[in-house]
Order: sequence, then structure tokens, then C-alpha cells
Amino acid sequence: MNNNLFNSLNILDLSVWYDLPLSLQYIVVLIFGLCAGSFINVVIYRLPLIFENELKEYIEEQTKQEGGPCIPQEFGIKDKKQNISLSKPSSACGNCGYMLRWYDNIPILSWIFLKAKCRICHSKISIQYPVVELISGIGTLFCYIAFNYIGQSFFAILLFWLLLTITILDAKTQLLPNELSQPLIFLGLFCGWQNIFIDANTAIAGFLFGFFILWIVAFLFKLIRGYEGLGSGDPYLLSGIGAFIGIDYTLYTIFFASILGIFFVICRKIFMSKDIYGAIAFGPFISISGFLVFLYVNHVI
Ligand SMILES: [Zn+2]
Repeated sequence: MNNNLFNSLNILDLSVWYDLPLSLQYIVVLIFGLCAGSFINVVIYRLPLIFENELKEYIEEQTKQEGGPCIPQEFGIKDKKQNISLSKPSSACGNCGYMLRWYDNIPILSWIFLKAKCRICHSKISIQYPVVELISGIGTLFCYIAFNYIGQSFFAILLFWLLLTITILDAKTQLLPNELSQPLIFLGLFCGWQNIFIDANTAIAGFLFGFFILWIVAFLFKLIRGYEGLGSGDPYLLSGIGAFIGIDYTLYTIFFASILGIFFVICRKIFMSKDIYGAIAFGPFISISGFLVFLYVNHVI
């Protein structure tokens, strides 16, 4: 499987990197993973705000065109967070607006030193931040060590970051945006084309199968029950994962995701005080089982 673009073109001279002692390589990769986790937190926080802005702009535009019936108050122009993107403005406390300095942004350590509170207003900083950074750091290091050569490690790490972002974002907000699932599909098909994990035909078959199987399930559910039972982003997510693992293992992924989902619903009924029948996001279960199956296919676990 080593006959791919990266090895044949030899774009990067990696000998300098490989000459480093293993322990130093691992430390650098770990720090890199922790910082990626920090960025993943930013994406999880900001993507919903960006969508909210786009929705408000859209509604304002529609209202103007229709000759201006009143704009619902919650979509008023004042509410719009000005010019928010993934890189701007720099991170600030959600409560008092204090702009974080570089030393407030060191993965995990800042959270510990600040005792989970804002430096200025002492409002609580969610434990989500250090937890995501830690998972990202450990997962990145794991992928680096577990895969055979740098090309595989690189793409396994990208897959891991994307699925981690999707898992947390979907669990928190029930949003599964195309901005995340499309890069996943592109990455999966690219890896297939380059024979990095599986061959191109298996990747394309997995991609198509992953999409249509969930699309059909969603279609039938709506036909029978009369309302949406599955998030519209789920087929894209599964097709992206399918492109990494092929048809057979995509079936295993659906199976494990369903078991995880059922297990979660049962636990929630047992351990939550109130009876909750609300919808749950299926994306996290697809992502987690998809990544575990991906590791299994590659004989990593
Ligand atoms: Zn503050």
C-alpha cells in the first residue's frame, strides 16, 4: 500500500524529523494534538454562532424583499455578533468580553492555573475545553504511533480531528454541518485514490453505500411516521466514513452505532431523574463507532 503520491513524489524530506529521538517526536506530536484540540474547541463554539448569523441575515433579507412585515425580535440586527469567523475576533470570555492573552490559551494548563475561572470576572470556564484538548492530544499521539508510515498517520489524525469535532458539536447542538462532513468525504475519497488505507473502488463503494443506506432509512421513516427521524447530515457523515472503510465495515459501523445509541437511551432513562423522550443526535454514535471500526480495519486495535 506504500505506492502512493507521497512516497513516489517524495514531496517532503522527512529525514530530519525521523532523526529526532522517538521521545522527542512523541512530545512534539502530543503538543500539536493539544493545540489542535484548542482549535477544535473554537470550531465547536463558533460554527453555531456563524450559522445563527447567516440565518438572521437570511431572514432580514427575506423580510426586506417582502416589503417589511415586522422582523421577529429574536432576529433583530442588534443581536448579530459582528463579523465572527473561525479566526476572528480573537477568543474572549463569553461573560465579560476579556480578550484572552496567549498565556490564557495554553491547552489544559491555563484551565488548571486559572482554576476553571475567567481571569477577570471569575465566571466558570467549561470543563469541555481541557477535556477536548486532552482527548485530541492523546488521540493524535495514538494515531501517530499506531499507523505504519507518515502518510497513514497524517490522514488518520485528520480523520480523528474531524470526527472528534463532529461528535462534540452534534452532541451539544444537534448540528451536523456540511462544512465538516464534506471535508470528511473529500479526505476519504482522496485516501482511496491514493491507496492509503483501502483502494479507490472500495472507497467509492463505501462512500455511495454509506450515503444511500441512511438516506433510504430516513426516507422510509418519514414516509411511515410523517416526520424527520434522522438528521439530514447523518447520510453525509456515514458516506465520509464509508469512504475510509468500504461497504462491509460501513454496515458494522451502523450496527455498532445503533447499539451505542440504544445503550445511551437506556442509561439516560435509568440515570436521569426525569423521563426524557427528546431526540438524540445520532452523529456522535456514528462517529465513535466509525472511528473504532476504522482502527480495527487497519489492524490498529
Ligand atoms: Zn470574564
